[in-house]
Amino acid sequence: MRKPLFIRAIPVLILAISLAFLSACSDNNDDINDDTTNQTLTEADKAASLFMLEEEKLARDTYAYLDNLWSVNQFANIKNSEQTHMDSVEGLLIQYNIKYTILPFGEFVNQDMQNLYNQFVIDGAISQANALQIGATIEDLDIVDLETNINATNNTEIISVFGRLQCGSRNHLRSFVSAIENSGSTYEPQFLTQEEFDSITNDSHEQCN
Ligand code: MN
Ligand code: MN
Repeated sequence: MRKPLFIRAIPVLILAISLAFLSACSDNNDDINDDTTNQTLTEADKAASLFMLEEEKLARDTYAYLDNLWSVNQFANIKNSEQTHMDSVEGLLIQYNIKYTILPFGEFVNQDMQNLYNQFVIDGAISQANALQIGATIEDLDIVDLETNINATNNTEIISVFGRLQCGSRNHLRSFVSAIENSGSTYEPQFLTQEEFDSITNDSHEQCN
């Protein structure tokens, strides 16, 4: 005896419901992906990314220059880290199709960066103690500029990239300040508040990934 039509239809119904459910799930996944990859950059986000690319370059180029003058492990190690920071910001610029220029070592599009670099290479050539002060100064500035730009955006990718760079900068600051203190001197924060500076230097090395 044949089963009534509505009973024979049950497996088909279950299949149809399952497919509808799967399709709803995959739609949701698409929506989630869209939310993270199709974020737009405001003009301020673009300016911030271009600015931070050159500020990371300022760190890399200054440390490369000072590494040739002084036998200080920090300059050799941290200049490589600054290259990875530049690469991270460059990744953002490529992803969002923003035109950028990376000039040769020691040359900057942003005149403020150029002026800082010119002054750092003059001061840093005077003594190893000066060179270490410049290292701490660059990290002090970098942490504050990253903080300003993190607070100014809603883009989660920028927040995440700049946050990782800031973590690296805190480690770099600790490293320069401990070298300064080991040589019997001190570093006075110029951009961070004394309270922020103390809280960073009292903490130990962080894992930034
Ligand atoms: Mn950096
Ligand atoms: Mn740094």
